[in-house]
Amino acid sequence: MTIPKPSRLLCIFSAIIFSITTIVTIAAPASNIAIPEPTKARYSGTLKLHVDVTDIERKIHRARLSIPVTAGALTLLFPQWLPGNHAPNGNIAGLSGLTITAGGNSLAWTRDTVNVFAFHVTVPAGVTTIEAEYQYLTAVSRAQGRVLVTPDIVNLQWNSVLLYPAGYRDDGITVEASMTYPEGWEYATALDAKKVAVGNPANKVEFAAVSLSDLIDSPVYAGRFVKRFELDPASKIPVRFNVFADNAESLESTPEQIEAHRNMVKQTYKVFGPGPYSRYEFLIAASETFGGTGGLEHRQSTEIGVGAGYFTKYKDFAPSRGVVPHELVHAWDGKFSRPADLNTRNFNEPMQNSLLWVYEGQTTYWTDIIAARSGLYSPLEAREALARTFASMERRAGRTWRNLQDTTNDPIMSARDREKSWPSWQRGSDYYPEALLIWLDADIRIRELTQEKRSLDDFARTFFAVPADSFATQSYTFDDVVNTLNAVAPYDWKSFMRTRLDGLRDNNPLDTLGRSGWKIVFTDKPNVFSEAANKNRGNSDFVHSLGLVVDKKDVISDVEWGSPAFDGRITIGATLIAVNGRAYKADLLNNAIAAANVSKKPIELLIKTDDTYRTASVNYVGGIRHPHLERIEGTKDRLGTIFTPL
Ligand SMILES: [Zn+2]
Repeated sequence: MTIPKPSRLLCIFSAIIFSITTIVTIAAPASNIAIPEPTKARYSGTLKLHVDVTDIERKIHRARLSIPVTAGALTLLFPQWLPGNHAPNGNIAGLSGLTITAGGNSLAWTRDTVNVFAFHVTVPAGVTTIEAEYQYLTAVSRAQGRVLVTPDIVNLQWNSVLLYPAGYRDDGITVEASMTYPEGWEYATALDAKKVAVGNPANKVEFAAVSLSDLIDSPVYAGRFVKRFELDPASKIPVRFNVFADNAESLESTPEQIEAHRNMVKQTYKVFGPGPYSRYEFLIAASETFGGTGGLEHRQSTEIGVGAGYFTKYKDFAPSRGVVPHELVHAWDGKFSRPADLNTRNFNEPMQNSLLWVYEGQTTYWTDIIAARSGLYSPLEAREALARTFASMERRAGRTWRNLQDTTNDPIMSARDREKSWPSWQRGSDYYPEALLIWLDADIRIRELTQEKRSLDDFARTFFAVPADSFATQSYTFDDVVNTLNAVAPYDWKSFMRTRLDGLRDNNPLDTLGRSGWKIVFTDKPNVFSEAANKNRGNSDFVHSLGLVVDKKDVISDVEWGSPAFDGRITIGATLIAVNGRAYKADLLNNAIAAANVSKKPIELLIKTDDTYRTASVNYVGGIRHPHLERIEGTKDRLGTIFTPL
């Protein structure tokens, strides 16, 4: 017997595989056939999806999908354009191990070479159901993206475990989903569970059939340490604050904290009226290890990461507290009421973001107001948050070349999770903070035009009103925004908005603040809102003096374009080693900044980039500067009125 050479071995293996596959598989379809456009027809039959999320050690979701089909060409899509992301962020590379079978026989699939989110299959005659099995490989470290699975918390986002037939709208496909989760854990979601079937294990839940759009809009959190708070206990429409944590201690809250969250719901309803839901589920991760901070909105629920100290170090978590009303407001502004160019037919049709300054910008404005009105922010925190926004937008170098309207393209332009080299010059998602200031301007303008009788509250109540009999998504255009503003207070709102959206910094000053009764001042006292965020991240903030931020590892994590640090040729990523010849400490740099204001001498910063040391000479006088609001005596305190509970 002779031992075959490696190349010969390979050929034998290929021949064996080829002979097996030709027995049971249908020939693979071409890879670039047309993908059907969504039509109004409903997909006949119900997709059945089971996801097992019990593999918390290896962070793998395992899915089994059954799809009713007819013979012929079939294209299956993996959701690419994700609502709330405003971007083609579907993680197609995470979908792995895909096999498709019909009656136990393997069916070949081919990925479309133009649209890599599409899989082509030929369904043989006589086949009425196909089964797909695959895994979704969630991020195993933060470097790979949002961590969705920890030893104590799992976040199941249905869009990452689902393929659906092309040619249909997302509300024309029905899915029955079920989930197996770790034993002894609890879960929360906006989906309704069916009654437990006899013989089903206790850790398997079957959900009632819903449309594909509602399924993807209803993620699940499951966890070991869970506490639920009713935020609207007297109402028939429950609002639940489901908190998932790394340990029991992180769940310890005070009655005052819960009361502020209950007030938040009340104050939101006073602006927007009844919500577009029959119940609302906050899915909150108070965790060190899970997915980072921030939120993702849905119509009847929201996914939020707040950090482990949310309750236990409440004072330091003001920015996280703001995420809570932000996401609830999105139930109206963003989910129920959606810009027409974002309201696409399914998850693989490209979105356009031209109205994100309403969707995100106005929501951000309401975030600060509802947080202030409910007591989630103290009056000082609310003012400091606004001072921070105003000061950073006023100095924003990128406003000199890129208008606010153009920033709405940013989610699509920016690759998934890629950080920017020069954020203050590139601008990123300024349609949040700068648009907040436009809406403050509009609010004050309405108050001025109507002798203080009307306000942006009247706009919100009309524009986002939810009819009692339908929660179906409604879409709007730029003209709809202008027309509603005109109905609240007649004015040339079209020019008002276009000037602010299309103008560059030099002919588009942010001159609203004075009319609110307050002005911006800079002192050496830290801004309490920024300080809370910086403390959590371990950052030291010199943004409004030298124009840089230093992180807890002494790495320079931000340099403002055009700032003294920029002129000293300092870049993000350099390590700050020494200040005027002494080992760097934040206090030392603060003292050096104060001393330079007297001596008028440059500050010498020893920095290390890769393996190169260099002394940067930074010319800056002006002392330590942090932004705050100061009352303009003798003027109307409109900001005080805006922040007063209704
Ligand atoms: Zn948002």
